[in-house]
Amino acid sequence: MIEGLNLIAGDWEASSETAADINPSNTGDIVGQFARGDAAAVDRAAAAAKAAFPAWSRSTIQLRHDILKRIGDEILARKEELGRLLSREEGKTLAEGIGEVARAGQIFLFFSGECLRLAGEKLPSVRPSVDVEVTREPIGIVGLITPWNFPIAIPAWKIAPALAYGNCVVFKPAELVPASSHALAEIISRSGVPSGVFNLVMGKGSVVGDAILKHRDISAVSFTGSVATGRALAATAVGCDPMKKIQLEMGGKNPMIVLDDADLGIAVDCAINSAFFSTGQRCTASSRLIVTEGVHDRFVSAMTERMKKLVVDDALKDGTHIGPVIDQKQLDQDLDYLRIGRDEGADLAAGGEILNRESPGFFLSPALFTGVDNSMRIAREEIFGPVSAVIRAKDYEEALALANDTDFGLSAGICTGSLKYASHFKRNSEAGMVMVNLPTAGVDYHVPFGGRKGSSYGPREQGSYAAEFYTTVKTAYSHNLN
Ligand code: NAD
Repeated sequence: MIEGLNLIAGDWEASSETAADINPSNTGDIVGQFARGDAAAVDRAAAAAKAAFPAWSRSTIQLRHDILKRIGDEILARKEELGRLLSREEGKTLAEGIGEVARAGQIFLFFSGECLRLAGEKLPSVRPSVDVEVTREPIGIVGLITPWNFPIAIPAWKIAPALAYGNCVVFKPAELVPASSHALAEIISRSGVPSGVFNLVMGKGSVVGDAILKHRDISAVSFTGSVATGRALAATAVGCDPMKKIQLEMGGKNPMIVLDDADLGIAVDCAINSAFFSTGQRCTASSRLIVTEGVHDRFVSAMTERMKKLVVDDALKDGTHIGPVIDQKQLDQDLDYLRIGRDEGADLAAGGEILNRESPGFFLSPALFTGVDNSMRIAREEIFGPVSAVIRAKDYEEALALANDTDFGLSAGICTGSLKYASHFKRNSEAGMVMVNLPTAGVDYHVPFGGRKGSSYGPREQGSYAAEFYTTVKTAYSHNLN
């Protein structure tokens, strides 16, 4: 069993309070016991970061490149072991866990290169004998707050750019999945990063997260999580003195359109992946399958046939397609929405049953509603479980209108054989990420990630666009005296 401590000023610190990290595939299996920090721990972490900032922010890009590369290389070299740990604590399948760890490694390698490329601009002035330079500088100390559903990839896509661009970090992972973050912190601590540059404070959102948000010396906070938490955080951030820069990545109600001319096999593959893989616990999961008249019935029957073959079991078992739900609270939320859907008059075409497996865990069979109207709560609110809904549309135009009729705008997909509809959808979808004949989830690590409307707030994450959040721009004028 792991004994997880906080990392503050380069030292591993115990905490008077600890919490168990429980395997959702087998609730008798305790992954580890992890420190639960408090506001005083955040204070110490921020003080360490503040002391480390002057030297780190001026460190050479060669040093930062080498450190980030070392971190990325080690993550990749240990991807099977770390993937197993991740799947054990989060419940996604082993293949998904290893894939996520590999992605985290690639992100560090990407930013090890990116820090060498951060360019500024030198421009002529509109005034005589004046030069103008526009450069990017680190923001200072950044607070990073992450959710439980991507225990290593989301921390990686915040920590890597933060360090690459010369910031110091106070990082708080989600309470439910501290082991992957702890393993990542351990790798970072051995990478040559100076003490205090990177600090890990595990604990509750309402305690550690809140202290990060309100800390005077923390200049910016990047958060990924639910809309309700994100909205409250943004209000606090602007009420702070001084005001904080804030970046929020939140929920989704991602549509996937299937048109009459779609390849049915591809459409079903995309829908099964989008709706149910990673137990539907992805912000980019599709919980609205919008299907046109001509293919609707064939699509529904092909989906329900495929769903019968999906194996829901222990995340670490060979042959498992879908692991457990993360915990009892999320399972209760999924079951609530199954009841709400039925009460609203939707038909539960398949799934939605609690399953008993060899070990005690939170197993739920993937569920598909049909006869769903886009105004129903199951079509408007994020469920965050293996529950999806088929919405019938007359034609492409109606499908597009339904797809855009949502308070969210993270990812949106279309399955079609038509170039005309595919290109029209790419232009007219009101989502930050658009997929053609691909699942709504599953993205590259070198390009921007984020959405519109209620899904995202602030600059994009990942790719070279990450510099927007993790740097601040300076415009310098100089009078040329010659
Ligand atoms: P959550 O909002 O409950 O928690 C997210 C993080 O915020 C956790 O670390 C939590 O401890 C912290 N937190 C909670 N209250 C806080 C407070 N008062 N002050 C400061 N921090 C606080 O979300 P979750 O249940 O962990 O994650 C699921 C949600 O995350 C879903 O809505 C999902 O769509 C979203 N998500 C979004 C993306 C994206 O990139 N858009 C990616 C993954 C997950």
